[in-house]
Amino acid sequence: MNNVKIRQIQPQEYPVLEDFLYNAIFLPPGAEPVPREIIFEPEIYIYVKDFGGKDDCGVVAEMDGKIVGAAWTRIIPAYGHAVADTSTTLSNQRSRSMDNQTPELAISVLPEWRGKSIGTQMMNYLFYQLRKYGYKQTSLSVQKNNPAVRFYERLGYEITGEKLDHAGNEDYLMIKNLQNENVEDQTIYEFDMNLICEYYSNVERQGPGSTEVTLKALSFIDNLTEKSRIADIGCGTGGQTMTLAHNAQGHITGLDFFPDFIEIFNQNAQKQNLQNRVKGIVGNMENLPFGDEEFDLIWSEGAIYNIGFERGLNEWRKFLKMGGYIAVSEASWFTEKRPAEIEKFWHNAYPEIDTIPNKVAQMQKAGYVPVATFILPETCWTDNFYVPLIPVQEAFLKKYAGNKAVEDFIALERYEVGLYEKYKAYYGYVFYIGRKV
Ligand code: SAH
Repeated sequence: MNNVKIRQIQPQEYPVLEDFLYNAIFLPPGAEPVPREIIFEPEIYIYVKDFGGKDDCGVVAEMDGKIVGAAWTRIIPAYGHAVADTSTTLSNQRSRSMDNQTPELAISVLPEWRGKSIGTQMMNYLFYQLRKYGYKQTSLSVQKNNPAVRFYERLGYEITGEKLDHAGNEDYLMIKNLQNENVEDQTIYEFDMNLICEYYSNVERQGPGSTEVTLKALSFIDNLTEKSRIADIGCGTGGQTMTLAHNAQGHITGLDFFPDFIEIFNQNAQKQNLQNRVKGIVGNMENLPFGDEEFDLIWSEGAIYNIGFERGLNEWRKFLKMGGYIAVSEASWFTEKRPAEIEKFWHNAYPEIDTIPNKVAQMQKAGYVPVATFILPETCWTDNFYVPLIPVQEAFLKKYAGNKAVEDFIALERYEVGLYEKYKAYYGYVFYIGRKV
């Protein structure tokens, strides 16, 4: 299940929520399917009607470009909006005043994709989002005989009440407390999302590089005017984007998967008074929200590996104007043969790592003239990337003392640094610049 992407829903995708709402209707075994029009009953349609308001929060699961699951919350007087829940028979006595602060959940996964943990992954991302927006709890309503009750319990929902729905079914009302700060209670997925964002939000760069390297790569690009459009894909918090903006003309769109990075990115643009020319958006590099031939330049530092070098070069080409440039940095082998330990590490981390001539050939094959390649100085990896992370690692280990996931994560980071020191003669980061032909 590596290629399922869990991400925020995009506005143009809101209409699919109707499909997932229909798909979410629970049919007990043997029950006749219900007509799709049932979703337009006001008690049901309220879950999707005019979705996109300020309290609406949605995530989708995407497989090979297709949405296979959706989970969303909104503040609505629907089934899960318990009124004065005074149930005292439950052991959990925490205050659960269900006011207008409790977003209510709807979720479904297409039948053929069930049982593959997609629901859990979506929920954990949704919890992460809800916490970020400051919600303290979230609710849902589920028919008592729906096996999903167990799924919700595993995710930390507790039954806090019961009632009949409009069709006379017996429902549980369930609530999940989002304020539980005990990281051990969070699942790995949720924790990883939080952790990785928090970890990298502390530093200016999320990948190897430097101002000098960005400028050197830019020196090969000769087609930019103030009308130019530039995309920076996998921009992170925008270290290199701001360098580009100060040294190239035109309008820059930074795109990254992590909303937190984009938030910092846009704050950085504002601070540097670049907000009229530089805009960060949340998006997925595997499914870019851009038009054909929109850009004069596509930039991507230390990020194309997320989609894969060849696939990125191939898929992104259509967004470039003829004669437009692509400039990406990518981990590459320097030698034909390498010691087994480092081969093995990269085989697991990024099997697409390859020699420079092979990468150049891939670029040519994808429909670009290779214009330049150069190896990034060692300091891009050491002084500019690993070193700023040292205090962050120490602070993390302190803050999350005893947390195995954090310890493992930092141990891996340190192992990587050690490997680099030992084997830096064999690999490093390389900039590849090509022109679309
Ligand atoms: N260009 C920045 C960040 C590099 S780190 C720098 O050099 O400092 C890689 C970035 O790619 C991260 O910010 C990560 O959030 C982003 N990323 C990973 N997968 C992505 C995807 N599918 N779509 C968009 N961005 C993605």
